[in-house]
Amino acid sequence: MRNELKRFFAAHAWVQGAWARDVLLTVDTRGAWSGIQVDTPAADRKSAIVLDGPLLPGLVNAHSHAFQRAIAGLTERRGAAVAARTDDFWSWRDRMYSVARRITPDQLESIAAVLYAELLVGGYTQVCEFHYLHNAMDGKPYADPLEMSLALVRAAQRVGMGLTLLPTLYMRSGFGVPGLREDQRRFASTPDSVFRLVEGVKAQAGALAHVNVGVAVHSLRAADAQAIKEVAAFASSGGLPVHIHIAEQKMEVQDCIAQTGQRPIAWLMDHLPVNAHWNLVHATHTTVEELQAVCASGGSIVICPSTEANLGDGVFDLSGHSGIGGHWSIGSDSHVTRSWTEELRLLEYSQRLTQGRRNVAAQTGGLDSTAAALFEGALAGGEAAAGMPLGAIELGHRADFLVLDEQSSALLGVPANHVLDALVFSSPDARFKEVFVAGQRRVTEGRVRGRASEPELWSQLAQDFVQTMKTLWT
Ligand code: ZN
Repeated sequence: MRNELKRFFAAHAWVQGAWARDVLLTVDTRGAWSGIQVDTPAADRKSAIVLDGPLLPGLVNAHSHAFQRAIAGLTERRGAAVAARTDDFWSWRDRMYSVARRITPDQLESIAAVLYAELLVGGYTQVCEFHYLHNAMDGKPYADPLEMSLALVRAAQRVGMGLTLLPTLYMRSGFGVPGLREDQRRFASTPDSVFRLVEGVKAQAGALAHVNVGVAVHSLRAADAQAIKEVAAFASSGGLPVHIHIAEQKMEVQDCIAQTGQRPIAWLMDHLPVNAHWNLVHATHTTVEELQAVCASGGSIVICPSTEANLGDGVFDLSGHSGIGGHWSIGSDSHVTRSWTEELRLLEYSQRLTQGRRNVAAQTGGLDSTAAALFEGALAGGEAAAGMPLGAIELGHRADFLVLDEQSSALLGVPANHVLDALVFSSPDARFKEVFVAGQRRVTEGRVRGRASEPELWSQLAQDFVQTMKTLWT
């Protein structure tokens, strides 16, 4: 048994929120950390694989709609259709639906495979896929209802990315509306159909590496109270993570007040058993009382800085939330950015720009380093989002880690204890030379690495992706 353990040595590794020196790490046969020794004497390092750069834990990407990778860079013009009115989240959504309506399972797999490869290279090792593209193009279920879910699973497996699949309940187009719009027909689902998807993926997940499941409710506007309660009860009985979009848009907040007399988070906290398994995505428009209630419940906020900026949503109240000990994670949502360093940088800069002061996250978290406050916050929240022990060099956690390229220009000459600061706040971003998931190397020299039978994995993925984009857009 012992010879199946893997041992790694790093001169610098991020352990328990700080840089540790001469770290010897052991990975067990399940791919989890089984030994962590700091200040290791030279004699004890023999036969360990020496990592050529500082080591960081991999981060969970807590919010993804993989198919939206196909519109990154393609919604940045006003266009004739929206020229006459305001270009905002809702006009962007119409364009996003134009892809959602016609993407096939094969195309989804091709787009997701490139995306997941990019996310791995960008330092994410697990992605939470908020998946609502369930049905065939005519709105009827596929012969195999798992068709689209399994396309995402195959994409993650192909590149070696960890995946938390979140089949999503989506029943209506707005508060008080009986059903979906015609262009939302592929999203149609009921609590039962969501439970079947969860069970279906779970039945296969045993044979798949690093796949687990949770559930999602698209939003309060997209499902009625009774259905949301059923989903919550199902999740609670299985100990599954629950995700829900909430309070992203001012109009959505106003509609919720008009319909229920309460703001979205206030309503959610009063009517659902929100606890540490719950992940509230965006929460851009909140009150102090709402954030206090989320914090008291143990629930987390999933912040998606690049998408929220791209869509003009608004700025999350990070200092208000962190200041009371609130939990949060990071997601790349529409994937205009596939790098967590950029997400964390944007998150901090949005606070600085609106508050007129510096090092907001550090000050709020009572830490010295802003990058450390941001990174630690995102790591802790990621574990809740994925519903499994990830995101730490800690015994029993999955051995997901990143090896920084110290030759990256952003890191040249930077003292060892400032490396994380320079990684987050000096761009062009430093490169992750290697990325490991469960102790398996998935990225080498900054490129995703295939199995032995697929030495040029990235080239194949890129070629398929270009073909898919041609089919979608011409
Ligand atoms: Zn989303």
